[in-house]
Amino acid sequence: MTERVHVDHRRCRRHALCVIVAPDVFARGGDGRMHVTQPANADAAARAREAERYCPLQAIDTERRR
Ligand code: SF4
Repeated sequence: MTERVHVDHRRCRRHALCVIVAPDVFARGGDGRMHVTQPANADAAARAREAERYCPLQAIDTERRR
């Protein structure tokens, strides 16, 4: 099972809470936007889901795929 993570840049306000929760998945790019590295393992996927829960703008979407 893999996790697909997406950030909706129309909603995101770039305050980087997701980077604190899951620094191996989210990072601020040189363009100021949040960039996503797809989770490499189950722990990273769990952190990405946690960031989805904490994102105050509901800008993160995670989806499990088989
Ligand atoms: S927590 Fe949500 S709104 Fe904040 S930077 Fe991350 S994706 Fe954007």
